[in-house]
Formats: sequence, structure tokens, C-alpha cells
Amino acid sequence: MDKQTRLLHAGRHPERYDGAVNVPVFRASTILHPSVAAMESSGRTPFEGVRYGRFGTPTTFALEEAVAELEGGSHCIATSSGLAAITGTLMALLETGDHLLMTDSAYAPTRGFCDRVLARLGIETTYYDPRLGAGIAALIRPNTRLVFTESPGSLTFEMQDLPAIAQAAHAAGALVAIDNTWGVLHFQPFAHGADVSIQAATKYIVGHADAMLGTITTADKALWHRIKSSVAAFGASPGTEEMYLGLRGLRSLPVRLAQHFATARELTHWLESRPEVARVLYPPLPSDPGHDLWKRDFTGGCGLFGVILRPASKAAVDAMLDGFRHFKLGYSWGGFESLVIPTGGGSIHRTATEWAPEGPSLRFHAGLETAADLKADLEEGFGRLAAVGG
Ligand SMILES: *Cc1c(COP(=O)(O)O)cnc(C)c1O
Repeated sequence: MDKQTRLLHAGRHPERYDGAVNVPVFRASTILHPSVAAMESSGRTPFEGVRYGRFGTPTTFALEEAVAELEGGSHCIATSSGLAAITGTLMALLETGDHLLMTDSAYAPTRGFCDRVLARLGIETTYYDPRLGAGIAALIRPNTRLVFTESPGSLTFEMQDLPAIAQAAHAAGALVAIDNTWGVLHFQPFAHGADVSIQAATKYIVGHADAMLGTITTADKALWHRIKSSVAAFGASPGTEEMYLGLRGLRSLPVRLAQHFATARELTHWLESRPEVARVLYPPLPSDPGHDLWKRDFTGGCGLFGVILRPASKAAVDAMLDGFRHFKLGYSWGGFESLVIPTGGGSIHRTATEWAPEGPSLRFHAGLETAADLKADLEEGFGRLAAVGG
């Protein structure tokens, strides 16, 4: 069965719910146990079966089963946001005295957690050039426990050679985690050497900009148990409506993503030819420096890409952005709507590499509007850019 077909079935068990197509929203904190013996027995395997709301309900387990299928992994843990999935993984796999290798292109709050929280706990982070590949070996120390990747980086779009990084990390006894939010359906992290894969399910899995959700998927059950024990100890658990929305979004993910990808391909190709544009950051474009890795490892793409304009004044770029009809100003991505954010002016913090775009830099999300309407919106935007000038 193709993955698109498998995702329609993943995590559903209509026979358990009187034939209902969808898994119900379970509202439960307390779960009743039929006997003392049953209560004691469930306490011996606290993360299996339904025991107490915080550890998960059938709605949670359905989402976790389906995302494990999406990622091609073994087991999954649902979290209350994408960032909670990242911090939950870091807190589970690292302890005082450990060393972490973190890609310099990481999602900004991931970096913030390393610098503010992990540092305070005596866990040292070294940021590395995302394009290093096998060269990561030179940065691995005896106490390096984890190499964290994000490919492509969700702001600057560098591709990472995950198989080469995983080989070097595993040779030194370190684990490899990936933030796979961009790759979502089109990158199989475990087939490329990852031990842990994280989704900001808030983005394409939920897909409608109406819920916060994250997932941690592992290559095997032992690693799942290790991370789950730590995540559970912190006590946060995702809301049941959110998990239902994640499951609902997952069913239409392949068709939505195909449309986002087709539109982004058309727009990026067109943008590349525009005189206002210096560079387009989108690995599916043959001109992108990460294209060969993308072609080797990915089966598709999504609607998120970057654009570096030729030098223009802030006032001109602001006028371009303020007037868009469809590309609205807002954080996040992966919903049905088109979005844009400025990514220049020192807003991106790097330490191992330089991020010095030659002109104003923007990040676009191509939503489900038609490509023709989005192109017209961009074209009008270039008109405003020229009108203000400078
Ligand atoms: C948005 C995002 C996150 C965080 O997800 P939230 O659900 O907003 O916490 C993590 N990684 C990437 C790449 C993201 O784009």
C-alpha cells in the first residue's frame, strides 16, 4: 500500500467504536480499574494501555500510531507543541556534563532552549555548520551524546547530509535527532539514519492553523520508553481536541501537501527569473546548493521557501509586505493560508556560520490559494517595492 493510502487507515480502529470512521475525542482524566490486581498490573507498565489521562487516552494512542506510520518509525509520543517535542527530546537524552552538537540553522527557539536552559544545567552545546556532513566527526567529543539536525533549516533552508552525519555520530556512540517538520511526508528519517524524529505537527499535520501539537517518533521501543519516561515526568500532556485535529489533518496531508508543493515549485521558479530577486532558497530548485541532497533523499517538498531580494530600502520592503492580499504577516506555516515574514535585519542568530544575505530576506509559505492568484499578489508587491524604491 502506498503511504497516502496507509495514512487513511493509520491509528483508526472502527471496530472498537461502533463502526465510527474517526477515533472519538476521549475526555478522560480518571480511568477506572476493575480490581486492585488490575490497578497494580497497569502500574507495572505505566505507558501501555489506558491508565490515567496524563499518560494518554485512545485518542492519543491513535495519533501516535498514525504519526509513527507517517515517519516510518517504531513508536511515537504526542506533545503539546512542536517546541515541547524538541525540549522533551533534549531533556530526555542529555544530562549534566554531556555535550550536544546542534545545527547552526536550528529553529530559533530550539537554540534559545540550548543557550538558556541546557547551559544552566551544565550541558554544553556546540553549534555546527549544517553543511558539514561527514566532517561532523571532527566535532564529536567523548561526551557527545546527541547530534541534532534540521533539514532543510526552516529559515535558511540549508540541506543536511543525514546519512553521513548519522554514520559519524553512531560510530562515536552518539544518537541523532532530526526536526523533520519541512520533510513531513517526503523524508523518511529512520531510513536515513535518524534515531529520533520530531514534527511540529502544528504545521502541516494539523494543517489548518488552529491547534498546537508536536510529536517525537523513535527508531525503536527502548528509545521511546526512555524519552516517554522523561516527558511524562514533566507532566505536560497535549489536549484531546488538539490530538483529534492532528488526526483529522493527517488524513488529507498528502493531497494538501501535493498542492502546496506544486504551487511553491511554480512560484519559486518564477521568482528566480524576477529582476528584484537575488536568490531563492528552496532545495527542490535545481539552482539551490542543497538540491543534490534533496534529490537523493527526499520524495517531494512543501510550500515553505526563502527569497533574498536585491538591495532595497526597508520602507520599500515594508510597503511590499504590508499590502499583500494573500501573503499575510504571521509566524508559523503549514496551514491552508499563505504567509510571509522578514528574516533579515539581524533576526537570525548564528555563531558557527555567517548568515549574511546580500539583500532583504523573506520567508514565504505558499498556501492553498491558486498559484495564479499568489503570483498576482507577488507581482503587485513588486510594484509597491519599485514605487517606494530606494
Ligand atoms: C514551528 C516550528 C517548531 C515549533 O513548533 P510549535 O508547535 O510552534 O511549538 C519547531 N520546528 C520547526 C522547524 C518549526 O517550524
